Amino acid sequence: MYKENSEFQLIAKSMITQIEEVKISKNDKFNICLQTIANAVCNPLKISYIKKSKIVGLIENAGIVITEPTTEQRNKYYSACTLRKFANNYFDTEGITAEQLEQFNNIVAEATAAANLLLPKTFHILDAEHIPQIYNHKHSNTGSCSQPANNEPFNIGKIEGLHIKEKNDINASCMQGKPKQYFEIYKDINTDASTLKMAILTQGSEIVARSLIWIDKPEAEIDRRKKMKPHELYIDRIYTKTQEHRSETQTQLFYEVNNYFNINNKTENNSDSNSNISSIKFANCFNWYDIKSKIQEYTKQDSKLNKNLNVDNNIFCNSNPSFDVEVNSDSYNYYPYADTFQHFNTWSNMLSNDESSDSDILRLNNVDGEASENTRCCDDCGSDTHEDDGTYIDDEFICNDCSIWCDDREESIRASDAVYNNCTSEYHHRDDLDY
Ligand SMILES: [Zn+2]
Repeated sequence: MYKENSEFQLIAKSMITQIEEVKISKNDKFNICLQTIANAVCNPLKISYIKKSKIVGLIENAGIVITEPTTEQRNKYYSACTLRKFANNYFDTEGITAEQLEQFNNIVAEATAAANLLLPKTFHILDAEHIPQIYNHKHSNTGSCSQPANNEPFNIGKIEGLHIKEKNDINASCMQGKPKQYFEIYKDINTDASTLKMAILTQGSEIVARSLIWIDKPEAEIDRRKKMKPHELYIDRIYTKTQEHRSETQTQLFYEVNNYFNINNKTENNSDSNSNISSIKFANCFNWYDIKSKIQEYTKQDSKLNKNLNVDNNIFCNSNPSFDVEVNSDSYNYYPYADTFQHFNTWSNMLSNDESSDSDILRLNNVDGEASENTRCCDDCGSDTHEDDGTYIDDEFICNDCSIWCDDREESIRASDAVYNNCTSEYHHRDDLDY
């Protein structure tokens, strides 16, 4: 169903006004009816227009009077072209200065970009094997020796020409444009226990939002005909193209994911209405309250939306998923920076979000492809210390520099509590000494 888009009309008219302001004159031969320009029927990015001479011709020859064109009239009598071609026809760019030409080009480029933003955003769920490809792509004119820019559009199944444009905040994410090898762990999820997917929104074929989707179910058991409980799914941080429409985009992705996986957070009896089972968790982000209120608005307004969602009080912003994720190996050549599942237990092959003191744990908190040793903060001096280079005293972690072996007690004590005995060359705890 075609509908005139008032936002598109505003963009087109504002483009004309702005070009007039840089004193580029109108092309008199291109005498069109400015009142009825709109988005074209055939293509939402093209402009639909009619010449005044044609309006007169239709009245004189066929008795057809067009004041507010119907869809049929637009199809039949109107012409359609891109905003750029329209601007080139509408204005006389012969003999303008280089400065005027640059302004002209900028105005048209901005109008085109604004019109692109009006396109609907399309949702796709991708298998984990495609995640490295998505991360690897980056719009950058330069790149570097170690990381050449990868601007080449790519296809995933039937989604063709995927790319990220220059003015897209996803480019600014710390992992975007990194080598594919950094993400091998994401392709190596133990699918007999856990599942990883990526959700994206595209506009045209540009990626305008992406998020990792972690699922606490074997891949083979994901059956979209069956309802899934919210605690079985965790939507990781949602990266978006622009700040401007950020919450709207994130809300759309949130909804689409919940619909796609048939998430049901309605509880049958009231007794567990506050339980973890029916609570939707969503990765921490600064505009969380904005998203939550948009989700609530959205649900109230649109009756077509997922009836399974009970959004009154069961959606939380929380960086702790209620499950861990198993991978197939205990070590990888490279590691990504992880927003949520940042701890990799090399003994159990589990990715988790638990702050733990175990020395088997690596932290995925680097952007250069390497994981960090699990370090703890010394409760005395505050320095980051590997688990093996410290000890626990009264349940506090103390680094080796801040602790001393006490022979009397046969345990380590804080250096600040130690008193040296010159005769025996031993340390004593000050509490054990008689004064
Ligand atoms: Zn210390």
